[in-house]
Amino acid sequence: MKPYLREKKSFGFDDVPESTSYEAGYLVTVNAGWRSIRPVVDSTRCIGCGQCYLYCPDGVISIQDGKAVIDYDFCKGCGICEKQCRPGAIGMERERE
Ligand code: SF4
Ligand code: SF4
Repeated sequence: MKPYLREKKSFGFDDVPESTSYEAGYLVTVNAGWRSIRPVVDSTRCIGCGQCYLYCPDGVISIQDGKAVIDYDFCKGCGICEKQCRPGAIGMERERE
């Protein structure tokens, strides 16, 4: 877990690093195809609040041009980002029928 969450310190956006602490791919290999559902961002509803970025356990979400972008090479499809997104901008979709 990211230290500022674990220690329950108050923090502002200026304290949060622009990118994840760990480069995706540093600790894991590219998703080998076992993911059954994937998060999909509705950019018309995304307000760029960064909650999904903060809570994604794999650190695979970045905010680009004010919108959440997911790196599908490393997303494991856990759905935490969907649960955290208050505007309802993330939906989980099946990988394949
Ligand atoms: S939590 Fe939802 S609204 Fe906030 S940045 Fe992520 S996708 Fe966008
Ligand atoms: S589904 Fe899980 S791993 Fe994938 S972006 Fe959302 S929180 Fe991160």
